[in-house]
Order: sequence, then structure tokens, then C-alpha cells
Amino acid sequence: MDGAVLGIDIGGTLIKWVRWSPVSGVLDRGERTTPRSGARAVVSAVAELIGEVPGEAAGVALPGHLSDDLRAVRLLPNLPGEWSGLRFADELESRTGACVRLVNDARAFALAELRLGAARQEDDVLFVTMGTGIGGALALNGRLLRAKGDRVGELGHMICRPGGALCGCGARGCLETVAGGSALVAHVRAGGGRAETPQDVVRAASGADGLERAVLEDAGRAIGLVLGNVVAYSSVSTVVIGGGVAPAFAFMKPAVEAELAARARLVGPVDLRLAHLGSGAGALGAALMAAPHVNRTDGDT
Ligand SMILES: [Zn+2]
Repeated sequence: MDGAVLGIDIGGTLIKWVRWSPVSGVLDRGERTTPRSGARAVVSAVAELIGEVPGEAAGVALPGHLSDDLRAVRLLPNLPGEWSGLRFADELESRTGACVRLVNDARAFALAELRLGAARQEDDVLFVTMGTGIGGALALNGRLLRAKGDRVGELGHMICRPGGALCGCGARGCLETVAGGSALVAHVRAGGGRAETPQDVVRAASGADGLERAVLEDAGRAIGLVLGNVVAYSSVSTVVIGGGVAPAFAFMKPAVEAELAARARLVGPVDLRLAHLGSGAGALGAALMAAPHVNRTDGDT
């Protein structure tokens, strides 16, 4: 065995996995349908997967918040079932015997892009994931920031429109309510347009539709505002943008750049890049999180 580890990314519809080794890279990958009948069914499906795919350890990425000790689920709004308080890592370890680590899915995406993707030459990077909602992460000095509950980087809940639309988190005017995938669809519909998915919005905008373009431009202004704040705060000037709704960024980019240009005297030029690793980045980052020493810069080998 060459130190291969398993990375698993649990999404609302698919569980994606990758088997990765520090020596040989990606050895194998696959996906299966996420059970929709509750948390227990997902635990069983993931335990089964860990049992089937050989590896020394497993990293599991989840679309939500973890407990302070990173072993249990705190909040998982987009998956059906009773997740709050579930000792997911402990349960998987006792059922499989494997060493299991949990990670937030945006942070997993970021670690993969930092080590193997668009930011692999960089030390200081801000990451944005555009999906149904908006996630993020921050790397400083070559290391992805993680803290209690793995909550560092929640860009989607930075407020860009005070008093604006109510967010799923309970606050008003979060970035997610303007520029998240669900919000893009809702804003197009509110303007009289027809869209079922964020991809529909992007398709219509490609056809030079005024309403869809205006919605994406408005989202771009909001993203630029939040990015400008974070860049001013952190001095990080490389931004990697990924996620399933990232194709929408092409239509947002001029507005994002205009917002950033307005603050250029303080923040300087900002390098906006698209992610390289596609939809497998979350599983790959989860694998990296399970591999010993991958997120360290202290000279350990
Ligand atoms: Zn929010």
C-alpha cells in the first residue's frame, strides 16, 4: 500500500469519492446517489463505501458546519434527516475501523485547489465556491485556515445589502441572498423571467437576455463588494472561484472588477482565477485532509 487515502464528498444528490495516494495521485474515483431517507441511511452508505474502497484513512466533506472538535455534525441544512449532533466521524470509525476526518465541503475544495489546482504556486489565497449557496475559504502562508467547527471562510453570509432579503441563516442581506444559485433563479423569476436552475440563468444570459444579465451583474456587484472587504481585511490578493455555478462568473466579472478597482488604492490589483479541478475537487480535498501532513507547513514530512 502506498499510503492511499479515500476522499468522500457528500452532496445533496451525489456522494462522490476518490482514492488518492501522495505517490501516484488519483488511483480511482466514482460516485453514487445520496440516500434521501435520512441521516442513518447516509451513514450506512458512507460506511459501506469505506468498506469497499481500500485506504489507510478517509476524509469526508459535508455541506455544513461541524462541531467544535470536528467529529460531529452541527448544522446540515441541505440534506434531509436529523443531523444535528450526530457523531458522524466516531460512528464511521466504529463501523469500519478506518481513521475518519470530517471537513466542510468549501474548505475541502479549497485545499484541493491550493495543493493541486489553480493556486498551487500560491501561499495566500481566498477561495469562493458558487453553488446553491456561496461558500469560501482562506489560505495564509501556504496553509488552509481551519478552526473550531471548520467555519472560517463563510463568505456567503457576509452582509452586502443591509436590511435585504431574509437568508436561511436568519440574517438579512447575506451575499447568498443576492448571488447564490437559488437566489439567481429567484431574482430572474421575480423579474418575470423563466428559470428552473442557475444553469438556465447562465444560458439565457449567453443569449444576450437583458433580465438575466442584469441579475448576474447585480450579483457581481455584491460579490465584488464582499471580496473588496475581505481583500482589504486580509491583504490576500489571489482569488480562486469554483463550484457548479462558476460558469455564471463570466457574466459577473466586469462588475466584480469594477468594485475592486474602486478600492485599488488600498487593495492593489486582485487576481481572479477560475478553479482547475472541476466537480471532483471536494472529494480530492477530503482525501488530502485525511492524508497525514498535507495541510502543514512546519517542516513535517
Ligand atoms: Zn446568511
